[in-house]
Amino acid sequence: MEQLVARWAHNPKVTGSSPVPATPKNPVFLDGVFYFYTYLTTMRKHKSGFVNIIGLPNVGKSTLMNALLGEKLSVITKKAQTTRHRIHGIYSREDYQIVFSDTPGYIEKPAYKMQEEMNKYVRSTFDDADIFLYLTELGATLDKQADLYTPISKGDTPVLLLINKIDKAKDEEEIKAYAELWKEIFPKAEILFISALEKFNLDSIITTIVEGLPEGPEYFDKDQISDKNERFFVTEIIRGKLLEQYKQEIPYSCQVEIDEFLEEDHIDKIRATIYTERDTQKSIIIGKGGSAIKRLGTESRKDIEIFLGKKVYLELFVKVKEGWRNDDMMLKHFGYKE
Ligand code: GDP
Ligand code: MG
Repeated sequence: MEQLVARWAHNPKVTGSSPVPATPKNPVFLDGVFYFYTYLTTMRKHKSGFVNIIGLPNVGKSTLMNALLGEKLSVITKKAQTTRHRIHGIYSREDYQIVFSDTPGYIEKPAYKMQEEMNKYVRSTFDDADIFLYLTELGATLDKQADLYTPISKGDTPVLLLINKIDKAKDEEEIKAYAELWKEIFPKAEILFISALEKFNLDSIITTIVEGLPEGPEYFDKDQISDKNERFFVTEIIRGKLLEQYKQEIPYSCQVEIDEFLEEDHIDKIRATIYTERDTQKSIIIGKGGSAIKRLGTESRKDIEIFLGKKVYLELFVKVKEGWRNDDMMLKHFGYKE
């Protein structure tokens, strides 16, 4: 704003040749002109759009979005399918706004209604994108992801192809040879080599996206980094810890819900329940003498404290909700269905 005022004041067409603006004869009228001018310049310049991050499980989608936004938005673990919902991350600067969505991995043979709902989320990302970030990792075979890239390669939406994990490359030849394979799939796409983990070449991603963004409004407040609230991220952190700590089926049968979130001056008091499908799962989560759940609580609390930037008192409970992953009511309740 101040810059604009200065530019306007020094514009000879407006103020005459004098660098010091003369007092306007008709201030009310000039005020109007000034605001109209400001309105036009901001309208003309602002770009915005939806950028959807697509890729097989484990290629680094969540790591990338978190690295771009500089916050721990999505749960990252070494196991596949940790992201169950679409998460919008918002990257704003004065003259543009990029709304990223991180998608869950597509599940080829859904075994539960929950997984069918997850696939719906993935498909919904094909509808509303201005730009696709197609993420793959160095060396990942192409035929395994044909279901994912075929609809994108047939459409008109611009694609930015990101080849991730290049920190693992033996040499440059390996990277170039891999990129050649993709040029046949996405002949028009820009290709960037990145490392989401090492934060290598991330600036180029933003620059390339901004070039391709259409003009558009601010969809969200400029200081907002996500459309999800703190409660949501707290449940995601606990779910991530479940995935790290327990084997096989257990974490996938769990749903975490916040029962109470009390914000006090120096501490947040959070009470959460973990729902499982069976009694046997419940006792595994609790562990001998409560040792396992105690560890889960401690590990979760540490990350929640980092995320909230505040001390946290965390209480965890475990309850059985038989068959929730196939129960429409429960899926709705947990936010998987509209
Ligand atoms: P998503 O399933 O696509 O969301 O993948 P995640 O972001 O959860 O990452 C899966 C795994 O890959 C994690 O262990 C990450 O630390 C790892 N990873 C992500 N990006 C990179 C990278 O650039 N280099 C390396 N070496 N590992 C990465
Ligand atoms: Mg993910």
